[in-house]
Amino acid sequence: MGFLHVCHFASNSGRYREKGKGKRIFQFLSLRVCTTQFFASLSSSSCIVECEKPTTKDFNATHVSFVHEILKLCAKRKLLLQGKACHAQILLMGLKTDLLTSNILINMYSKCGSVDFARQVFDEMPSRSLVSWNTMIGSLTQNGEENEALDLLLQMQREGTPFSEFTISSVLCACAAKCALSECQLLHAFAIKAAMDLNVFVATALLDVYAKCGLMKDAVCVFESMPDRSVVTWSSMAAGYVQNEMYEQALALFRKAWETGLKHDQFLMSSVICACAGLAAMIEGKQMNALLSKSGFCSNIFVASSLIDMYAKCGGIEESYKVFRDVEKRNVVLWNAMISGLSRHARSLEVMILFEKMQQMGLSPNDVTFVSVLSACGHMGLVRKGQKYFDLMTKEHHLAPNVFHYSCMVDTLSRAGQIFEAYDLISKLPFNASASMWGSLLASCRTHGNLELAEVAAKKLFDIEPHNSGNYLLLSNMYAANGKWDEVAKMRKLLKESDVKKERGKSWIEIKDKVHLFMVGERNHPKIVEIYSKLNEVMDELQKLGYKVETQHDLHQVGESIKQELLRHHSEKLAFTMGLLFLPPNAPIRIMKNLRICGDCHSFMKLASKFFCRDVIVRDTNRFHHFKNGCCSCGDFW
Ligand code: ZN
Ligand code: ZN
Repeated sequence: MGFLHVCHFASNSGRYREKGKGKRIFQFLSLRVCTTQFFASLSSSSCIVECEKPTTKDFNATHVSFVHEILKLCAKRKLLLQGKACHAQILLMGLKTDLLTSNILINMYSKCGSVDFARQVFDEMPSRSLVSWNTMIGSLTQNGEENEALDLLLQMQREGTPFSEFTISSVLCACAAKCALSECQLLHAFAIKAAMDLNVFVATALLDVYAKCGLMKDAVCVFESMPDRSVVTWSSMAAGYVQNEMYEQALALFRKAWETGLKHDQFLMSSVICACAGLAAMIEGKQMNALLSKSGFCSNIFVASSLIDMYAKCGGIEESYKVFRDVEKRNVVLWNAMISGLSRHARSLEVMILFEKMQQMGLSPNDVTFVSVLSACGHMGLVRKGQKYFDLMTKEHHLAPNVFHYSCMVDTLSRAGQIFEAYDLISKLPFNASASMWGSLLASCRTHGNLELAEVAAKKLFDIEPHNSGNYLLLSNMYAANGKWDEVAKMRKLLKESDVKKERGKSWIEIKDKVHLFMVGERNHPKIVEIYSKLNEVMDELQKLGYKVETQHDLHQVGESIKQELLRHHSEKLAFTMGLLFLPPNAPIRIMKNLRICGDCHSFMKLASKFFCRDVIVRDTNRFHHFKNGCCSCGDFW
């Protein structure tokens, strides 16, 4: 039975459309076709002419539509080989010049990732309609060739082919993926000229590119100018805010969307949850959670994972657990979210238990899972356990360790005081060691008083992150402890230079769903007078317990009393006092900070947690510090 007979048989019986049966026929078909010379003929197109051409009476409209169906199926299942075989048959059927068939072929090649073949079909078309251009441009953009897509768009314009809003927005999508800003600006001008810039698809794509390139002002401008906005517009805008760490604006946007009665989707919700996580705005987050439960989004694994992550980042690991428990069908992403949350909170034992449970449920851990597990070992300095998991990952699960896995291993060794082993591992890495690895080594050298290696690590860090004052400070303290005053002076000079571009320290705290931000020595907060006076009281009480302002944590070249003053008014202390004043008596005080917490604030929080019997949770750039009863979960290593 020849190919066309198969077509005939299949289309007549109408069975190829039925689920399952279509597959059977299709398999038969592809098997048959692949074994013929047709496939070979396609790969070297010059051979096609050698094949025997069927006469036109051999096929009719039914055959043609069947071939189209097959091609669509190939596109859907990404079956390039079978698609090519089908293409060969099409050439034999003399359908090469058929517009619809060509469009379907371009689509099939594009979906199968074979953009060169798609282009060949496109270039050989004697006439193109808009659909062909759109499909070809879409194909190029999907395969990350936005420059070619843009060229094609310009060619379209030159040839006077009218283009649609889909043409522009699809090229814009490619620009967004690569942050191709100049191309985007060109397209924006193009869209304005064609009076399409306010079209909902074009404008949404435009604001998406601007947001991804970090130009939030331009993104907002486009958003504000839009007469109509779709749910995609709103979620793109919210995602843009989140990507650019403008969390408050993301939440404000969501409220606005809510007021306009917009039907929200999982992407918008997920962005808003990320914004809550970024702000560590637990109360807002809980409100979102309630909203999600009402609208039935909580069973969505995607949303549930965001919730687990949000609660963990807000310091509410119990709440994370609750969300996790409530999801019936858990996938790897969900397990990973929970395990990573626990690891972030240094609950190492639970991490290991969940790691086992996950496998009992028949799920295999992936590279993300292992990062959490290894980092949990690091928190406790469990060198042998860490090594065991590392071997398990590489030898049994055959996962290649990446920079995060090695980073955890270096951290584990450093914490356990195995400085030389850590240095050895860093030296043997298949790639350049990251700042966090050198940072772990430096911290360990401080604890164990190894100045020689500390210098090596610090010098690397000065190169990688020249504006991180913590590194200068640490090395300087070590020099001071060794009486090397010349070196201390040198560090001061370096620190001063790094200070120019240094980010200012700020902390924030959420009280009654409002986020309060404090800079060092804040003056503008409406309650600041009350806060300073309370902070003075707190200082007095803590000093009775032995707290001393640790001025060695400040390298500013100012007098001792000014140093004390600066340290006293570090932003996290102000945020803590705000919490003490305005949160309910037993509520834990959750503080976020944009830089690493300093040694003085760390000691302050430890004592304060004991004196006020309050849990204090500080999230700095590196980790969570959970202060309870005078101790910190980081074990004073951070
Ligand atoms: Zn501080
Ligand atoms: Zn700590």
